[in-house]
Amino acid sequence: MALAADHLVCPACLDVCDGHIHQCPQGHLICSECDRSLASRTCPTCRGALPSAEAPERNRFAERMIAALPYAAWAGCGWTGLRAGQPEHEAACVYVSEVAPLKARLADLEPRAQHLQARGDAANEELQARVEALASIPGRKQPQPPRPLQSRPRDAATASAAGVEAGRRHI
Ligand SMILES: [Zn+2]
Ligand SMILES: [Zn+2]
Ligand SMILES: [Zn+2]
Repeated sequence: MALAADHLVCPACLDVCDGHIHQCPQGHLICSECDRSLASRTCPTCRGALPSAEAPERNRFAERMIAALPYAAWAGCGWTGLRAGQPEHEAACVYVSEVAPLKARLADLEPRAQHLQARGDAANEELQARVEALASIPGRKQPQPPRPLQSRPRDAATASAAGVEAGRRHI
C-alpha cells in the first residue's frame, strides 16, 4: 500500500493526488486542481508539455487506486476508512462541522487576546508608575510633621497655664 501511495503522490502539492487526476503524456500524475493552478503548462515531474487544463488527460485507473487507499482522518476525529469514503464521512463528522471551525476561530482570536493582554499590562505599568510618582512627591508625604510643631507650643502654653493654675490652687 505504501508503495502504491508513494506512486500516487502529486508533484505539486506533495500529497496523494485528490479528486480527478490528470497526467502528462509520460503518465506522470497531478491533481486536477494543482494542474489548473500551475504557472506554466509543464509537467512538474518531467518538464514535458502538459495538455491544456481544459482538455486534460484524465487517469481513471489512478483515481480508482487512490479511492481504494486507506485514509486516516486528520488528528482529532480518528476516523479511518478508504479515501473513497472521505467525502461522505466528512459530511457527517461533527469534528469537521463543529470542532474544526471552533479551532480555527480560536486560532484567529489568539493574536487579539495576546494584543489585549499586552495593552492591559502596559496600562497596569503606567498606573503603577503614576502611583509611584505621586508617592515620591515630597509635599504629599510631609503634611503630618508641621502640625505637631504648631500645636505643641499651644499645648505647652495651656499646660504651663494649667500648671500655674494648679500651682495657684495649691498655694
Ligand atoms: Zn496536487
Ligand atoms: Zn511528466
Ligand atoms: Zn471525522
